[in-house]
Amino acid sequence: TILNNDFQFRDVARMDPTKKAMQFRTEDFVEIYEPFEPTEASHQAHRCLECGNPYCEWKCPVHNYIPNWLKLISEGNIMEAAELCHQTNSLPEVCGRVCPQDRLCEGACTLNDGFGAVTIGNVEKYITDTAFAMGWRPDLSQRVWTDKKVAIIGAGPAGLATADILVRNGVKAVVFDKYPEIGGLLTFGIPEFKLEKRVMEQRREIFEAMGIEFRLNTEVGKDVDFQSLVDDYDAVFLGMGTYTYMKGGFPGEDLPGVFDALPYLVSNVNRRLGFEKSAADFVDMRGQRVVVLGGGDTAMDCNRTAIRQSAESVSCVYRRDEANMPGSRREVANAKEEGVNFLFNRQPIEVVGTDKVEGVKFITTQLGEPDHNGRRRPEPIPGSEEIVPADSVLIAFGFRPSPQPWFAEYGIETDEGGLIKAPADAEIAFQTTNPKVFAGGDMVRGSDLVVTAIAEGRKAGQGILDYLEV
Ligand code: FAD
Ligand code: SF4
Repeated sequence: TILNNDFQFRDVARMDPTKKAMQFRTEDFVEIYEPFEPTEASHQAHRCLECGNPYCEWKCPVHNYIPNWLKLISEGNIMEAAELCHQTNSLPEVCGRVCPQDRLCEGACTLNDGFGAVTIGNVEKYITDTAFAMGWRPDLSQRVWTDKKVAIIGAGPAGLATADILVRNGVKAVVFDKYPEIGGLLTFGIPEFKLEKRVMEQRREIFEAMGIEFRLNTEVGKDVDFQSLVDDYDAVFLGMGTYTYMKGGFPGEDLPGVFDALPYLVSNVNRRLGFEKSAADFVDMRGQRVVVLGGGDTAMDCNRTAIRQSAESVSCVYRRDEANMPGSRREVANAKEEGVNFLFNRQPIEVVGTDKVEGVKFITTQLGEPDHNGRRRPEPIPGSEEIVPADSVLIAFGFRPSPQPWFAEYGIETDEGGLIKAPADAEIAFQTTNPKVFAGGDMVRGSDLVVTAIAEGRKAGQGILDYLEV
């Protein structure tokens, strides 16, 4: 039965899909949420108040038509809802799973005022998963191919979104990536308990059927010259991400047993997907006392991967308090449920050990004045040092840009921090200082979110269409 009454927001409580039983969650690399049943999705969607000027839409970086597709789902109209989702978003099935909704669409929902926000992300996932299973594919029957073609470097969300816009407008898109599968960090960073790998495989099939060509296992600058792309294509888009790992700069960081977060996560994906080149590349936390340093999404993914690898204990140490953690609140709560022990207001000052890690020395902090970003600065309290024993340490302090040596040769300017200069608000959006070259995603804005990379990729795609006068 479908309730559908005007006071549904009051009569039906906000609900997320059921989570899998804990015994599976701490062992299996599968998504932890069960799918919504059709009636659950409809009931949740109908809680929407259909605000005249919806805040949720404004706060969503791709400005999804949220109330409109919620209405379609409350009426059971899956195919139209899926079509509408794709008008603004190139990867709605991914965003529904991994966006930090509490900071974006759901955080802006009017119903936060005591009733509980509409469950937007999980309905977006429900719409796309169900529509794909029912055979939905984009309707490109009106498309007319032009004679233009664009090379895209990077099959992460930024590059994929650009390719989506281009092929829908009749411009051939050829995407180069050094990895053996598309997705960038969606495949080789974010673990399967948040985003199962079949999701990107399915998306590759959809994109290929739309006419996007992927050249995988192909590194530009090594297997293919950048010059050949400049010569053979009408424009080039760079969506290469940020891959310089931030360090703590304290003693002991080079001891055996200290690992950077991303290579650790990638080694786990490579083993699970059969892409591992050598068994020695796999980092196994079985039986280890693991300390994870950092408080963002990457740290949460390390925590929960180590739990699933049967670590003896996992402690996550963050230098501010819980309220100031950058990671999604949902994922912090999931990590806690799965057994991660959090130590807040602790700043690492040394990894201790003689020939390998034996522990991490911390100093307790208190929050002081806000810094230039408005976040309160952690200040060490003298005399509060302590050592937490550890066998392995994972460093998840974030990423800095990784500009390529050949950028300068092609007149592609970066700022002093290494981010590519490609302004969103220029006359031609996301054009670099080389007019034929465009860029977007993490390498332009700094490491951020999937949905912001998609938003930039889509706008850059429009910028390329403007440049090509298509
Ligand atoms: P990337 O996804 O990094 O893709 C860049 C691609 O370029 C890669 O595939 C790379 O192989 C390719 N490439 C680079 N150089 C070359 C070259 N020379 N030749 C060929 N290919 C090249 N965001 C969220 O919204 N929610 C989350 O839950 C979340 N969790 C995260 C967890 C982890 C562990 C990490 C690291 C990030 C997470 N993020 C999350 C952030 C999000 O994944 C990124 O912001 C987003 O993927 C950036 O997209 P991008 O397209 O700019 O770059
Ligand atoms: Fe919310 Fe992200 Fe979907 Fe936008 S794309 S509606 S922010 S889940």
